[in-house]
Amino acid sequence: MDLLRFLLLLVHYKLTAADSDLHLDRDYKAVSDPLQVCPSAGSQPVPNAGAWGDYLCDSPLILINSSIYAMKEILPDPDFILWTGDDTPHVPNEKLGETTVVAIISQLSNLIKQVFPDTKVYPAMGNHDFHPKHQLPGGTSSIYNETAELWRPWLNNDSILTFKAGGAFYSEKLLSPDTQGRMIVLNTNLYYDKNEQTGSLQDPGGQFQWLEDVLTKVYIAGHVPPGFFEKKRSKPWFRENFNKRYTEIIQKHHRVIAAQFFGHHHTDSFRMFYSDPGSPISIMFLAPGVTPWKTTLPGVRNGANNPGIRIFNYDRGTLQVKDMVTYYLNLTHANMVVAPKWEKEYSLREAFQVPDGSANSMHMVLEKIQTDKRSLQRYYQYNSVQYDLSDCDNNCRTDHVCAIREVDFTKYNECLKDRGSVSALPMLTLLFLCLLSGLLRNLWGL
Ligand SMILES: [Zn+2]
Ligand SMILES: [Zn+2]
Repeated sequence: MDLLRFLLLLVHYKLTAADSDLHLDRDYKAVSDPLQVCPSAGSQPVPNAGAWGDYLCDSPLILINSSIYAMKEILPDPDFILWTGDDTPHVPNEKLGETTVVAIISQLSNLIKQVFPDTKVYPAMGNHDFHPKHQLPGGTSSIYNETAELWRPWLNNDSILTFKAGGAFYSEKLLSPDTQGRMIVLNTNLYYDKNEQTGSLQDPGGQFQWLEDVLTKVYIAGHVPPGFFEKKRSKPWFRENFNKRYTEIIQKHHRVIAAQFFGHHHTDSFRMFYSDPGSPISIMFLAPGVTPWKTTLPGVRNGANNPGIRIFNYDRGTLQVKDMVTYYLNLTHANMVVAPKWEKEYSLREAFQVPDGSANSMHMVLEKIQTDKRSLQRYYQYNSVQYDLSDCDNNCRTDHVCAIREVDFTKYNECLKDRGSVSALPMLTLLFLCLLSGLLRNLWGL
């Protein structure tokens, strides 16, 4: 009987793949002139560029190709693929234009269709999938129309209509035989603080209202996540009012939200959502990017990453995430060999010894990161996909722990303050001991 149950359970758990932040730089060339390698490096010289890419540049096509074929090799027939956006390179608007932006979205959509012709894909738009970048409107636009047509093979007619009607979001029944669940793909670029089109609106595109109306048993996916960047203190992505509304919706409807999947950071992290008494109620997974591009965001130290892709093992009945396995390409090694290999980086369950990827389990992971130095260091190396192997000190721990724990603006600030006083404790203890020893010295005439 035990064997039968095991087999049944095994059949019940299916796998899905996730791919984020491809950022194709079509002009990447591994040439010897360090100023001619890639437009995405801006004015920075790129010495010793390799065939597979460089940490200062966005992805050459060969790297993206390799990531998609690696997915096919690792998991030839996933239930579905989540593709969380950002396809174009980090270059000024003048170097792109609407035609190029749409051409790049088209090129990468075709590549995925070619490698996975029979697989359902749920794509989301990123802040770099528009011209001008970040300025995605809450109404109609020609880029939304063109993108919807590119994605027509993956989406049903209702989704195409919703997408084009303004806002580029949609909801579809999950293509998975045993579930009633749905995938909700949001356009959270509407909440991005760099988006000037939507800043003065209450509910751009009516997306919040729509979200509350369509919530049943769902996964939620999108590109720009709420909350703070763990690699730069006090750096949020959403405007504060949008961040608040998003958090309130998750708190209100957490019972029907099985998990949330976002990109944009290019790093591997996660975000916790808690009820008011403080119980873990929802989990958001942030997928690492395929692009290795070192962020130019001021204040981020050495913010590059190795290219990563990942696979989720989930329960088709409840949609609960059972495990998450990340694969990566060590770019430095890749550039030294002819045929580089994507390797397994880690499994969530194995690395952190938790039973699954539920909110409760991820809360346990967070507790380990907060209290156990080895878990912190392990998480930190995963965060940049084995690119930054330096020590994560107390300040670094505070940045990561507070960003993971608190999506809410006020609570995030309180977390920083609380942890600030924690790190001041050893100093106070030291001061006390100095005073005590001075006192004793006086008392005993030493
Ligand atoms: Zn990106
Ligand atoms: Zn982005």
